[in-house]
Amino acid sequence: MRLGHASSLYPVTDILARDLDAADPLARFRDRFVIEDELIYLDGNSLGRLPLSTRERLHRAIGEWGTDLIRGWDRWITLSREVGDVLATGVLDATPGEVVLSDSTSVNLYKLAAAACAARPGRRVIVTDDDNFPTDRYILQGLVEARGMELRVLKTDIDLGVSAEAVREALDPDVALVSLSHVAYRSGAVADLPAITAAAHQAGALALWDLSHSAGAVRVPLRSAGADLAVGCTYKHLNGGPGAPAFLYVRADLQAELRQPIWGWFGQRDQFDMGVEYDPVESIDRFQVGTPPVLGAYAALEGARLTAEAGIDAVAAKGAALGAYAIELCDTWLAPYGVVVASPRADARRGAHVTLRHPRAWQLSQALRAAGVIPDFRTPDRLRLGFGALYTRFVDVYAGLARLRDILTADSHLAFPERHARVT
Ligand SMILES: *Cc1c(COP(=O)(O)O)cnc(C)c1O
Repeated sequence: MRLGHASSLYPVTDILARDLDAADPLARFRDRFVIEDELIYLDGNSLGRLPLSTRERLHRAIGEWGTDLIRGWDRWITLSREVGDVLATGVLDATPGEVVLSDSTSVNLYKLAAAACAARPGRRVIVTDDDNFPTDRYILQGLVEARGMELRVLKTDIDLGVSAEAVREALDPDVALVSLSHVAYRSGAVADLPAITAAAHQAGALALWDLSHSAGAVRVPLRSAGADLAVGCTYKHLNGGPGAPAFLYVRADLQAELRQPIWGWFGQRDQFDMGVEYDPVESIDRFQVGTPPVLGAYAALEGARLTAEAGIDAVAAKGAALGAYAIELCDTWLAPYGVVVASPRADARRGAHVTLRHPRAWQLSQALRAAGVIPDFRTPDRLRLGFGALYTRFVDVYAGLARLRDILTADSHLAFPERHARVT
């Protein structure tokens, strides 16, 4: 896609963007969301928009609480599995029964990492990388401390992401687990999940993937890679709503073998027999802990259904195309102002967000908000633009980057504070 030349700043019109929207097979999905604003929302990778069906389903669920009371649990009890199956078949390239909704991503990471280490007794190392998402690094730090293990932390280029070669070099017979993010939260770089999983297996280790920025954004080849374990959020690209419960995946043949560390009654065989000893079921349910958040689970269900309906291949293709368009506009308009693309340029190496580097990224992010464009700021000097394949239009990318160009031209970002806010 060539749009113009960097030498002249205004040769580009939004005609191409409008053509791309007209040809977009997912364009009709935008009407399935609550959009009552003029915002150019480029932060769906932090919190996705609200689907219409979710608003309606939550109203209904609250009504059912009022009328059904405890009897509602006849249906609610299987909700986590129902959402898991929609995710497995429509989003994650897994098999029904391999995914369940449960807890938060942080807690699920702890559960599965601990289960993996227990399944590799005698091995005392977990491998991760220094650009992994903070909660992942902290959870693993706490786990190795509690178990007297060691965390082997790969140094990773924050724009290119972790490479299979670097992981291979870190593997030896001491490694119990490799725990990495599939799509890097900052740059959007995609790790080679099949190659790294195969390398871990060759070394006798298990691999645990954080899919928080992948689920509902890119194809996740769990089945073809023979992936062991994964966790991820539903409130980002899956549009499950603030604090919606997370999911976890355990390959079918590993389920009975792995024992997770939080022994709750939702993992118990014949739960309502209230047995004396913990005796977990053999299915994915053994990775559940306590009473699920039903309202959040309904929201996650509607979000997952919408992505499944659109089809993950179409969703991934649209995300890649929006990103390629943003990169093209950045090269054309913003490079003269010192803005550098800090995400992989090849579509296959990039998730559904694009990160730009500029020394005044924090001030630019505030100026954009004031101009009706919502991006994310990420340390140290990155502006992150997330694309929701089901509702972001090419004209939104065009207008968002045009406003960034105008801010840079007028230097209007210099009027905003240099100090960071609490939530970025
Ligand atoms: C967003 C995100 C999380 C968030 O975890 P929570 O437990 O939901 O706070 C974890 N890991 C990655 C990679 C993320 O992008």
